[in-house]
Amino acid sequence: MELLEKLKILADAAKYDVSCSSSGSRRKNTKGGIGNAATSGICHSWSQDGRCISLLKILLTNYCVFNCAYCVNRVSNDLPRAAFTPDEVVDLTINFYRRNYIEGLFLSSAIWQNPNHTMELLLQTVKKLRVEQRFNGYIHLKAIPGADWRLIAEAGTLVDRMSVNIELPSSEGLKLLAPQKRKETIMKPMGLIGSQILECSEEQKRSRKAPSFVPAGQSTQLIIGATPDTDLKIIQLSENLYHHFNLKRVYYSAYVPVSNAPVLPQMASPPLKRENRLYQADWLLRYYGFKAQELLSNDNPNFHLDLDPKSDWALRNLHLFPVEVNKADYNVILRVPGIGVKSAKKIIIARKFHSLSFEDLQKIGVVLKRARYFITCKGRYYGAVPFKEEAIKNHLIPAHKKEPAYTQLSLFSEPAFGYQLADAQSSITGEI
Ligand code: SF4
Repeated sequence: MELLEKLKILADAAKYDVSCSSSGSRRKNTKGGIGNAATSGICHSWSQDGRCISLLKILLTNYCVFNCAYCVNRVSNDLPRAAFTPDEVVDLTINFYRRNYIEGLFLSSAIWQNPNHTMELLLQTVKKLRVEQRFNGYIHLKAIPGADWRLIAEAGTLVDRMSVNIELPSSEGLKLLAPQKRKETIMKPMGLIGSQILECSEEQKRSRKAPSFVPAGQSTQLIIGATPDTDLKIIQLSENLYHHFNLKRVYYSAYVPVSNAPVLPQMASPPLKRENRLYQADWLLRYYGFKAQELLSNDNPNFHLDLDPKSDWALRNLHLFPVEVNKADYNVILRVPGIGVKSAKKIIIARKFHSLSFEDLQKIGVVLKRARYFITCKGRYYGAVPFKEEAIKNHLIPAHKKEPAYTQLSLFSEPAFGYQLADAQSSITGEI
């Protein structure tokens, strides 16, 4: 098969994996080498359909011995198959890099023959790139669950980021939709990668010459909507991954209906709005000091689709508001809907010099569209509606419920209306 034909098949097969955003890698080019991985990361752009761009994002192969019901590459699906050799991936990467098409490589794979065979080929590929070609660009590699730890560990010394995809949030879900996968074979390498990252970063503090291991951290992907798992279950899992597995990011991917199998939910389109709410909640867990149990509960296990999770939480806890911006602690201000990390910091700095009015907040760039209902400035409330849950909710939820289909996160497309754009952007920027 022609290389171009393979590229068409294997780049298309990789588009369902969204765990490819990069950040935090610092390796510089070396003399005689090629490329570098900048601190700011290289994958901060998003394609029209919400997937990130600027990495060569491919599968090594879409031949798979597994039969996960939610996946296009499942063995029972009749579709064109292809496999790259390690040399072909290396040539493509170097050529695309030289032509300035890409800044790095995102390499994943289906399970070809068995996990060890697949991981060996992935390892060969990154070794050739780093050692033979002296390629210093960004590499994000998938670790194959069930493969020998020695193979994964060696690959970890060569790449910037690694991810082991959990895909389904519960063991029941795995049993139902991916019966050949085991939770333990997924969690074990994640745990080992997490501890190896910690160990190496400790060693690097003692000696700058200590080798690095997955310097940009590990990530994973969860598929949303293929199983009946609630948002509470999903964010509790994410919370656990951030705290105990040292994960850099959890990515959420709305289930794309690719099969009519009776074990799968029948839906007309991917649950993108739910995906958006989970991304917003994820920011709240990582940067705003929220716990999963505060955002949702067993009685209320799913996010409100028309309200962002922070506003929803605030409305359920109205007794904590309004907060006086001139007196409240940073952590309290951070919990005000619409005031993100940047704005909260600006407020803390600005109020050192004088007491802040509503107009002062506008001048320093604090967006008050939602915040105005939850704050006072010099003791005055600017909400323009009674300080009551229903009244505020009516103003926060757009009246035009004839809202067009919610589109996947994109920085390029025109918004259907302002609220939707701000809402979608907060999932990307984390300013919520
Ligand atoms: S192992 Fe991966 S590629 Fe293979 S069917 Fe399952 S999800 Fe798809």
